[in-house]
Amino acid sequence: MSIAFATPILVRNNKSGPTVFAEGTDNGAEVVWGGANDPTGSDVQPVPERFLANNDFLRALSRETFTIESANPDLIEQLAAHLNSPALKAQAAAFKQSQAAQSVASVEVIEDKAQNEIATAPCIGPSARGTGTCGTLVPFKESDKGNKPALCNSHESLASQYVPTEDGGWARAGLAPRQANQHILG
Ligand SMILES: [Zn+2]
Repeated sequence: MSIAFATPILVRNNKSGPTVFAEGTDNGAEVVWGGANDPTGSDVQPVPERFLANNDFLRALSRETFTIESANPDLIEQLAAHLNSPALKAQAAAFKQSQAAQSVASVEVIEDKAQNEIATAPCIGPSARGTGTCGTLVPFKESDKGNKPALCNSHESLASQYVPTEDGGWARAGLAPRQANQHILG
């Protein structure tokens, strides 16, 4: 058994602002990165391996919007050949040399990051359909849960109308708390 099989695929965002990559499918994964050099480390996120078979994701890699921070060296080598990317080829060679050390370091990065991980939460603003909530996923840190309601760009301006509820959720003033509870996605 080789530990390399369990090496997570960590991907770095090189854009200055937060970046989201969403699979265009129902229930598809959505990964949110902080801007490059984000002090909390949120500019590096683990991604599912199937992202590497997604053409849009591969394009973002070849444009260097994203770069592979660490992954199974064999996988990086295959990817480098596929994208014909000199930068990835250099990474592949470097990872090959330090394969064992890299595997250990990756696990440490993951554990560190768990503290600051950006999660997403559905927007609790009113739905455009008239009933229920908007539900647009917005970047939302677990630590912000009690400090502010999760609201998307179009509902941000309603923030002052929301008040915290006893159970740690948020309710829009004038609505029964149960109708507007906020649920953080695990
Ligand atoms: Zn919204």
